[in-house]
Amino acid sequence: MGELEFVRNLGIVAHIDAGKTTLSERILFRTGVERRMGAVHAGTTALDWMPEERRRGISITAAVTTVPWRDHVVHMIDTPGHVDFTVEVERSLRVLDGAVLVISALAGVQAQSEAVWRQARRHRVPGIVFINQCDRQGADFLRALADLRRRLGLLAVPVALPIREGPQLGGVVDLIARRAWVGEPGSGAHTEAAVPLELADEVELLRAELFEALAEHDDRLLAVLVDEREPEEALVRSALRRATLAGLIAPVLCGSALLDVGIDGLLDAIIEYLPSPRDRGDVHGALPGGGRGYRAPSVDQPLCALAFKFLRSARTELVLVRLYSGWLRVGDELVNPRNGAREVVGGVYRVHADSFDALPAAGAGDIVALAGCRATGTGDTLCAPGSEIALEGLVLPEPVMSLAVEPVAEAQRDALRAALAQFEREDPTLHVRDDPETGQWIVSGMGELHLDVLARRLDDEFGLTARFGRPRVTYREAPLGRGQGHARVERAMGAGTAWAEVELDIEPHPASEGVDVELGAELGLCDQRRAEVEAALRQGAQVGPREGGALGRARIVVQRVRTGLGKADGGGGEELLGDAARVALQSALAGLDVEVREPIMAFEVDSPAEVASQVMSSLLGHRAEIAEVRSEGNQTWVRGTVPLAGLFGYASLLRSASQGRAVCSLAPAGSRAVERPASARE
Ligand code: GDP
Ligand code: MG
Repeated sequence: MGELEFVRNLGIVAHIDAGKTTLSERILFRTGVERRMGAVHAGTTALDWMPEERRRGISITAAVTTVPWRDHVVHMIDTPGHVDFTVEVERSLRVLDGAVLVISALAGVQAQSEAVWRQARRHRVPGIVFINQCDRQGADFLRALADLRRRLGLLAVPVALPIREGPQLGGVVDLIARRAWVGEPGSGAHTEAAVPLELADEVELLRAELFEALAEHDDRLLAVLVDEREPEEALVRSALRRATLAGLIAPVLCGSALLDVGIDGLLDAIIEYLPSPRDRGDVHGALPGGGRGYRAPSVDQPLCALAFKFLRSARTELVLVRLYSGWLRVGDELVNPRNGAREVVGGVYRVHADSFDALPAAGAGDIVALAGCRATGTGDTLCAPGSEIALEGLVLPEPVMSLAVEPVAEAQRDALRAALAQFEREDPTLHVRDDPETGQWIVSGMGELHLDVLARRLDDEFGLTARFGRPRVTYREAPLGRGQGHARVERAMGAGTAWAEVELDIEPHPASEGVDVELGAELGLCDQRRAEVEAALRQGAQVGPREGGALGRARIVVQRVRTGLGKADGGGGEELLGDAARVALQSALAGLDVEVREPIMAFEVDSPAEVASQVMSSLLGHRAEIAEVRSEGNQTWVRGTVPLAGLFGYASLLRSASQGRAVCSLAPAGSRAVERPASARE
């Protein structure tokens, strides 16, 4: 691994079908990593490697790969655009330093592009934008640019301009160098040329706009402009780098991933404007004794890595980690501060989609896969022993839909439960719980597609078939006031009676749709006991007091724990703490006043004007609240919110009702209280 300045960790993010996978495949091809260009429609992509991805032509899981470009090493993650797989974007952005947002020159900024951009902002990940599909009929670079500014509230400034948009696409102009790159589309030829005459005025206009935007943040550039001098290329590029890293500006590039136009310019921009691990600076986290600490991006600091995703190779389970500091070798011992577990690194691997090359070691700034970390979960930190620090985990969306699963053949029961447990481990937005009343399992997830894909993957990856019930919306029960619980659990031991006591409160917490568990350092629990108590409380919170929906918008605060043996405090009973926490939670739930809430989706429908009224009335029939209607030319956009219940199959229904001309996208948008009684629902 070279110097940190020569590393880029970036994610490719966008709405579905903007061309993320095609762009990533094109980058693999341009950088010489793959000798063949993979195509989504032919199912020959390297990065969409799962059978179910190739069958459907969509990305389901984030794929990691590494490419070389101009003496740099670029670790790249291609993410899915469908909202059901949003955790893949979240976990990627959590560990990446920069993002490439791909926008279609036809469709502009779509619902999911807006959502992922907000996600990137939350993680303070700077981005550059690639306006793709400039070769398609109806492509409009300037319209897409205006859309970016309006919808992302973003100072998007072009640094490239397409030459003849649409099927005649002839190349791109590099605005900063004031040069053109031309070639027959698809030929792979890239010849440097002068700016075409017909674009000269526009190029000067956009250059002036770029300089002006940059001068707001750069005094040296401002001085040059005030003198009415032509700024040097290097000055412009360094000002643009600083403004991009600070999140003030997003450079916009353009081209066609399919036809290999503008890709070299994008790769150059990734190197020039996106941060290296060193630019990203220190990471901060919680120290074992309480208080905060940090690690600097350097191999000289103690090892600190974040586990963000699990993969299965033919032989073993691997965990993908981002190394923030230190150095990691095969055979090293690591500590997981969440549960105190010690892990021995069984192997370090460079990842290329679903293939893995063994490495002897890896250092700060790298993204690699590790073997042998069975006690680690998604979002956990791994540290050098004696230098523990726990970084912030992942922000996970709460499941909105669930269904019952049972084996077709009783002989497969154990294998099926084990496979579901493995999927649950790999996908933290998938939850499985036993339903003791029916002997079935209840699997909950992010939507119909998510659960549908699960069924196919059970067959593809484990050779198992299961019976699936009808998908149902997940109703949650939110506390309206405080609840208190207390429990004492005892067990006879050889030396006397061991006991554990737990006292806890439940309180409303509207900031999250799920449940927060607070176990303060003053409780004096060791990592392992803390993990046990938390797991017991999370399990118990799956069933609320009213109608059995999961508890939500709630915080559970453990106030006090005590353990002992006989009359004496301490020295026994610690292993009963999980049980005591569970019983204490039950007692708190029993007296709790709750309201039932249902998940709400933000929708966006894009349709031709002549079917717009039809679309609107069908939305209202689904209890939609319309927030905005906008028309431009022959297109009408409608945005608003709508309860998820009753929306099953709505997107495909809408598509067929409008002969494929209305497109609907949905994204989770919290919940709202349900007024009607349970018997009147669905
Ligand atoms: P993703 O969902 O963002 O990963 O998008 P894909 O890469 O799967 O692309 C969606 C569809 O758009 C595929 O059929 C691609 O062949 C097509 N596509 C992607 N990029 C381009 C492009 O630059 N030009 C054209 N004409 N089609 C493209
Ligand atoms: Mg894709």
